[in-house]
Amino acid sequence: MAEILGIKLNQFLAKYTHRKDGKLRLNERIDHACAMLSSDNTYCMVHAARPHQCRTYPFWDEILVNEFVWVLEQRTCPGINMGKIYTEQEILKINRDEDQAAGYDGSHDLEKNGASPPSKEDKT
Ligand code: SF4
Repeated sequence: MAEILGIKLNQFLAKYTHRKDGKLRLNERIDHACAMLSSDNTYCMVHAARPHQCRTYPFWDEILVNEFVWVLEQRTCPGINMGKIYTEQEILKINRDEDQAAGYDGSHDLEKNGASPPSKEDKT
């Protein structure tokens, strides 16, 4: 993540992370959004290196437990049910984390959408 943002690892750790319960966690912005979300809320600044839980969302066991929970989760994430329909095999593959690219259609890639990479002000 530090490399993508163009800053040194120690700078990244000091500015964007904290420890809680012995685990390293990404900070939140004042509005409680992830610190890696761009300032205009349109993209993840570290998409290629995003954490496992981000790469596998929303295909988490606790969300896939039944249709009711899946529908409830849509209140949190309006993107659910809006993109590619994944097969069960693709979901299992994503969750095994064996080959993220195989289960991801690339629809959110910055370059494909003509979006700019993080600006200098996003890096500070
Ligand atoms: S994908 Fe993950 S790391 Fe990126 S902005 Fe969203 S919550 Fe943060």
